[in-house]
Amino acid sequence: MNQIVSYPNSATVAYFSMDVAIDSGIPTYSGGLGILAGDMLRSAADLGVPLVAVTLAHRKGYFDQRLDAKGNQVESPSKWSPESRLELLAPRISLSIEGREVGVRAWQYYFHGIGGHVVPLLFLDTDLEENDPRDRVLTDHLYGGDEHYRLCQEAVLGFGGVAMLRALGHWGLRVFHMNEGHSALITLALLEEQFGTRQARAISQKEVEAVRRQCVFTTHTPVAAGHDRFPSGLVHQVLGEARAAALSQMRVMNSELNMTELALRLSGFVNGVSMRHGEVSRNLFPGYDVGAITNGVHAVAWTAASFCALFDRALPEWRRDNCYLRYAVGIPPAEIRLAHAQAKKDLLQQVRWLTGAQLDEKAFTLGFARRATAYKRADLLFTDVEKLKEIARRAGPLQLIYAGKAHPRDEGGKAIIRRIFEAAAALANEVRVVYLENYDMALGKLICSGVDIWLNTPLRPHEASGTSGMKAALNGVPSLSVLDGWWIEGHIEGVTGWSIGDRDGAENDSAAEARSLYEKLEQVIVPLFYNQPDSYAKVMRSAIAMNGSFFNTQRMISQYIRNAYTCASGNGAQPLT
Ligand SMILES: *Cc1c(COP(=O)(O)O)cnc(C)c1O
Repeated sequence: MNQIVSYPNSATVAYFSMDVAIDSGIPTYSGGLGILAGDMLRSAADLGVPLVAVTLAHRKGYFDQRLDAKGNQVESPSKWSPESRLELLAPRISLSIEGREVGVRAWQYYFHGIGGHVVPLLFLDTDLEENDPRDRVLTDHLYGGDEHYRLCQEAVLGFGGVAMLRALGHWGLRVFHMNEGHSALITLALLEEQFGTRQARAISQKEVEAVRRQCVFTTHTPVAAGHDRFPSGLVHQVLGEARAAALSQMRVMNSELNMTELALRLSGFVNGVSMRHGEVSRNLFPGYDVGAITNGVHAVAWTAASFCALFDRALPEWRRDNCYLRYAVGIPPAEIRLAHAQAKKDLLQQVRWLTGAQLDEKAFTLGFARRATAYKRADLLFTDVEKLKEIARRAGPLQLIYAGKAHPRDEGGKAIIRRIFEAAAALANEVRVVYLENYDMALGKLICSGVDIWLNTPLRPHEASGTSGMKAALNGVPSLSVLDGWWIEGHIEGVTGWSIGDRDGAENDSAAEARSLYEKLEQVIVPLFYNQPDSYAKVMRSAIAMNGSFFNTQRMISQYIRNAYTCASGNGAQPLT
């Protein structure tokens, strides 16, 4: 195997993400965006991509979740110490926030690829003694605080990130990739490298073009709250007059600064994260040419031990090249069932350990774990509790495993968790429901791989991609999902899983979608599971062969290389105006 030895400052691609999921012990992620970033970096290391990444230290993490008997969420900081897991780098840089000089240092984590290549990830940290107490806490909380705090954080990520890369000797960078708009201030930092901060003259089109040639922007959500906007008064206060003037002059700020707008205007290549999300984003941002590169997951990281062992035997090259998962079509169904039985057993053991509940290894088990937020509609399955009982009586026993955190300020999300607890009580002995606290990467892997079906009920078209269904597919767990995000591409009815409703149905008809969900379960899926286990195993196998082989970050990153990184230089998103 090729030993590609790379030194951190030989990178040509810089990747910026407000959250990155490394493992459950480093709580600097909140959901899909961070998981995607972590999987991207793992695959970049595997494929030998000369890439360096930047995030914030988030010393207080996202949060730890506890739930009381009624499903009320109790939050506490999820502290960790960079000191124990990361290497401190020598350079210090500083940036100006509200006229104060804020010192920044960086901690480094290394992703080691399968062939020995290393991708470094820098965690920026303002917790320095010489900093003002207000500034020492700027890199503490992921997605916490008010808009003032958020803008300060985004200044640290954008200006601090570019300055730190330069201080580390990264002068060969040709591509700057923004994972969501939080890091959009890197565009201004790159402009300033050409004209300096205090320069009053007009920014030339040539300077703007030079930045656009280097920048790639991936947008991740069609939900309005997902796009950061800051009032211009706040921007003046935090970034200072010169920077605010530059933003106004480029007409990316009038009464407010929209970070998505800034990233769109100054990127040469822009993409959504599934084909459908590309379409939705083109409607959302008229005048911009938005492409699509569908998300993936890191195949090895999300495959349960029993399936890793099976793949190692049947498809020995799969770790190095995920395309070989295509040949899972040749694995006998009995072996798929055996590997799945072990993953299910591991999950149920953990459920018992965490909650005391003894679930049944033979019963049809549905899984639903994701951020608890309104559009994900975790409670759609409980639209008609009596109907659910009836399905269990007629078609066969059902049990449900739930998990998910609500953002501390998302009251709607918290209400959904309480409703699941109420439904669980109403279903009592007829359908067992467990809600596992503190959804994280380790729990995510266990649930995705150990259930018999992966349920997904987003309100269309709000699920930009979704990745947990991809993790499930790698473990032979088919999806039962609304046709949104990646599932429009991964779904073949009765072959890789099942749809809830159809692609062209009304977008807000929860009642119709609930009916479709019940009907599929009662008429098709539960009978198949209990009466034709070999046929069910063939669906599991196709999920691996058709979806596992494609919806992975190896394929995703090679698409970024071919479509985005080579043509950040201009044939991507041209503003049409
Ligand atoms: C995979 C994963 C997610 C993202 O899942 P979606 O399908 O996009 O909702 C969020 N949180 C954790 C802990 C995960 O493992």
